[in-house]
Amino acid sequence: MQVLHALDSVRRMANGRLPGQLIVQMTDRCNAQCPQCGMRATAAFKRSDLGLDEVKRLIDAAAARGVQAISFTGGEPFLRLQDLTAMINHAGRAGIPYIRTGTNGFLFMRHGEAGFLDRVRRLADTLAATPVRNLWISIDSARPDTHERMRGFPNVTAGIRKALPEFHARGLYPAANLGLNRNLGGAPLPHMGASGPFDCRGFAAELAAGLRRFYNHAIDLGFTMANTCYPMCDDTVAGSGDLAAVYAATSSDDVVRFSRQERALLFSTLQDIIPEFRARIRVFTPLCSLLALSRFHGQGWQTPNACRGGVDYFFIDAATGDTYPCGYRGLESCGKFRELDTTDPAQKPHCTECDWECFRDLSELFGPLADLLSRPIETVRRFATDHEMTRLWMQDLRYHRACGFFDGRRPANYGRLERFGYRPTDAVSGASVDCRGYPSRTVSSVPAERL
Ligand code: SF4
Ligand code: SF4
Repeated sequence: MQVLHALDSVRRMANGRLPGQLIVQMTDRCNAQCPQCGMRATAAFKRSDLGLDEVKRLIDAAAARGVQAISFTGGEPFLRLQDLTAMINHAGRAGIPYIRTGTNGFLFMRHGEAGFLDRVRRLADTLAATPVRNLWISIDSARPDTHERMRGFPNVTAGIRKALPEFHARGLYPAANLGLNRNLGGAPLPHMGASGPFDCRGFAAELAAGLRRFYNHAIDLGFTMANTCYPMCDDTVAGSGDLAAVYAATSSDDVVRFSRQERALLFSTLQDIIPEFRARIRVFTPLCSLLALSRFHGQGWQTPNACRGGVDYFFIDAATGDTYPCGYRGLESCGKFRELDTTDPAQKPHCTECDWECFRDLSELFGPLADLLSRPIETVRRFATDHEMTRLWMQDLRYHRACGFFDGRRPANYGRLERFGYRPTDAVSGASVDCRGYPSRTVSSVPAERL
């Protein structure tokens, strides 16, 4: 089966396409309070669920079109655990190899209660019996109290710490889904330049300290894998004029509001910090994608790897069951997925309107592979002229291989990750932050206790 999937991927890429991905919003109901999301429990809108039979038909149509990756998202998918496991099992039976889902972690609350571990073991047994490949648990801040206040889940962090070994014992290695926001390091990141010129180095130093705490926290909790969710504020989506989120995972809250300059630094600082952690935890976030996004926000640079949303990747909305190019191009309904021609050669990747990591990271990582197979001379020329990008991309591919392609059913092989170990000479730590074009108010340093 794996060989068939690999051959199908090569065939698609030789035609300039990538293996298909579907994100299925099975519900928009949620029990959390996250200020960074429009689906929080207190948000007033009519909630919807996709019925199990409807999702099964959708999965069958996806499998028939060669879709190889499917994510069941929410809202909170674990509010419908029985349906969720039925959907995962159906996707597995249909031959879809990359099946993902995630949780806000509500089931890990009340860890002090008698029966907590039995409850977690039953949950882990249930999931381990499905073909789910990747499971994520959201984390919003390096400080447990901040994360718990944002989610509205008291003491959930200690419950996650207790639960992870039970999952690992059953061959399930959940990923920490680190949601970038102003509280990521604990103390809120200030808005740089709010009352004067943009303090580029100060912002980058604060950010670097916060990101280090964030990744260290995930490792300390027991995670062996991490992904990074980029902030999606309403401004990012509405700012372009062409977008209107159908996926309500955006918010106008200050906590995810970053200026364009701040976004450029957010992505370049992440690119600097992630290599420090690559040997200690499998970090999915590709460095080539971070470079593309920081160049875009900092210099207006346009990536040659435009987003595959609406071409190879699609979003299914819980309210209507309709297909959209992604969660943010809500003005472009493509109707029912079973009626969609996903092989139409007229569809070419073109969009770079937002930073949604689900689609942007994979487009940056795998787009060049399709280009190499479908238009090799042009692509090799491109590689030869953009050394920085080419070097990062090749490093990302080697790292993905060393991580077993982020298979969440296998433990990390730290022996293989060792060669991605951080060397002090790799460090950027603010010194090489490109602050050209950002008038500096002060060159501030971060107090030692915050690093
Ligand atoms: S981010 Fe997730 S957990 Fe939080 S409100 Fe939105 S859907 Fe719910
Ligand atoms: S960049 Fe991708 S995810 Fe963002 S709006 Fe465009 S198609 Fe959608």
